[in-house]
Amino acid sequence: MSTKTLNLTDSLYEYLLKHSLRESPFLYDLRQKTAALSESRMQISPEQGQFMQLLIELIGAKKTLEIGVFTGYSTLATALALPEDGKIVACDVSEEWTGIALDYWRKAGVAQKIDLRIAPALDTLNQLLADDQMGSFDFAFIDADKANTQQYYEMTLKLLRVGGLLAVDNVLWSGRVADPDQQQPNTKVIRAFNDMLHQDERVTMSLLPIGDGLSLARKRGV
Ligand code: CA
Repeated sequence: MSTKTLNLTDSLYEYLLKHSLRESPFLYDLRQKTAALSESRMQISPEQGQFMQLLIELIGAKKTLEIGVFTGYSTLATALALPEDGKIVACDVSEEWTGIALDYWRKAGVAQKIDLRIAPALDTLNQLLADDQMGSFDFAFIDADKANTQQYYEMTLKLLRVGGLLAVDNVLWSGRVADPDQQQPNTKVIRAFNDMLHQDERVTMSLLPIGDGLSLARKRGV
């Protein structure tokens, strides 16, 4: 018995994957393709993708928001978990990375669920708010440039329905958040965000040590 979360050794992590992962062949292929890129660390881990699929099913999500697409692994996982009439608004600035994403979304037969917006995410979020989409999203995943995390969170919270779920990635930042010697701007931003979220009474929250740290926040009804 233990009162704290296990440290995962390599062999225990392998066990976890071997005994729980149900990755679709499209997700697997995309993960292999992305692993060859120098930025491959930006992709979420497969067990995190599967966990997010479970969350999406649990809350019966139909309309979701993704801030930061990269090569589209989490978007594809989300699309596969959504019902046939599900919709994702996906935000990214890179034509190059989302070009890979589009290719795999089409192969997996889910491209029609995904509304890709190539623009700074703050512009897209402002557009969604201007289009009167407040309170209309069931689920959102924030995994983009860290400098804007706080703004993404505030705008996304407006777009979520009451009871909707927001997931924020990289909140443990490879452990740097807990190391006082680490004072880079992004590390400070993530620390400040974590402190804010901990105190934010507008949501019910939990910080999970999955992947690089994932915070979940469920919008309360005030
Ligand atoms: Ca990430």
